[in-house]
Amino acid sequence: MDFKYPPQAEEFRKEIRAWLEVNAPRHKHPPYDTITVASDEEWEERKAWYRKLHSGGWIGIAWPREYGGRDADVMQAVVFHEELARFNAHLPYIGAGVALAGPTLIQWGTEAQKKRFIPKILSGEETWCQGYSEPNAGSDLTALRTMAIEEGDYFVVNGSKIWTSQAHRTDWMFLLCRTDPKQPGSRGLSYILVDMKTPGLTTRPMVEINGQVSFNQVFFENVRVPKENLVGKKNEGWRVATTTLAFERNFGGRQYPNLVRDLARMAREVQINGRPAWEDSAVRQQIAAFMCEAEAIKYNAFRGITRRLKRQPPGPESSVLKLAGTELNLRIQMFAMEVLGPYAQLSRGEPFAVDGGKWLERAITARGGTIAGGSNQIQHNIIGERVLKLPR
Ligand SMILES: Cc1cc2nc3c(=O)[nH]c(=O)nc-3n(C[C@H](O)[C@H](O)[C@H](O)COP(=O)(O)OP(=O)(O)OC[C@H]3O[C@@H](n4cnc5c(N)ncnc54)[C@H](O)[C@@H]3O)c2cc1C
Repeated sequence: MDFKYPPQAEEFRKEIRAWLEVNAPRHKHPPYDTITVASDEEWEERKAWYRKLHSGGWIGIAWPREYGGRDADVMQAVVFHEELARFNAHLPYIGAGVALAGPTLIQWGTEAQKKRFIPKILSGEETWCQGYSEPNAGSDLTALRTMAIEEGDYFVVNGSKIWTSQAHRTDWMFLLCRTDPKQPGSRGLSYILVDMKTPGLTTRPMVEINGQVSFNQVFFENVRVPKENLVGKKNEGWRVATTTLAFERNFGGRQYPNLVRDLARMAREVQINGRPAWEDSAVRQQIAAFMCEAEAIKYNAFRGITRRLKRQPPGPESSVLKLAGTELNLRIQMFAMEVLGPYAQLSRGEPFAVDGGKWLERAITARGGTIAGGSNQIQHNIIGERVLKLPR
């Protein structure tokens, strides 16, 4: 492993830094670093920042030029995210378009589908949600029962999806459904693109513990989807779906040292028993222990980057990173609640909330990270069976 950045990556750093100097919003704290969205107003603010990034050519930078990307290599992508973090600015989450739908379509879509959908994913003009989980099919996704039956030029969809993030705000869904009821498990599934405004499709928002709505249950009653919206082959949608999952489990892993630094800063600014929390040696020891773990996770992420630079297929790092990173995040957020004491209860917009209430927001969403994209128990299974070769 070579920790020096290549000269092209440093050139790229200058370019993005110069753009951010002029265009980055001046926030003291990153405003949108969770996948929960507080309000319609915040959704629009996220979209505005996304569009600004797009206007500078900073969305989908690793995508091929022919699809509107910059053909950026892995190290340039690393530098891009480092610079965003330096400016307290994130690539805003506005649904599953740029992270999941776009890369999946680049790999599997027909030319007509790429032409139709990719430019609008990049520009943020159309946003996306992911229709995988069902009330009785989560970890065991291949048990899903939403049916799509061919009728002339259409698939007619009936069934229901659940935990669909942002379904109530997004324009399109990539839907995994069963097109052959006689084939069990992963066979007989198809991957189709559904316009959320199609008659017969309804979303029922699910209110969360913080009073916000990010999830929905989505119902399909004779929803007619043009056959041209099939991605990949009929009944072979599982191959397309697992491509999307591979993008979903690519959890970064280099962000945790910054998170621990943010915790250390907060501990210097708040008080326990009338003295800065940082002066309590138990607080400092815990933060130091978090930093050791965060650095270990960061270097594990570099192993993944090294494999990609050598054009090797993704290794087991993604499951290890997902598991270790989301568990560490959860412990950091719970500890932040302890440091904040009674202030931990104050959320966004409340006058005495520390750091604008972001810690409560982060704490509430941290558990979700251990479940989303395949629960951590499932990641344990993957690591046990495929990495350590333990018996099933
Ligand atoms: C923040 C968040 C966002 C999400 N967004 C979306 C979305 O946009 N679209 C979408 O389709 N889904 C979404 N999901 C749903 C998510 O994919 C599922 O919650 C997840 O796959 C687990 O499925 P489940 O909830 O049905 O739990 P289950 O599969 O019923 O699991 C229940 C418990 O049993 C454990 N378990 C299950 N099977 C095994 C096993 N074989 N070995 C060991 N333990 C096991 C699980 O780990 C879990 O603790 C989201 C979830 C979260 C938390």
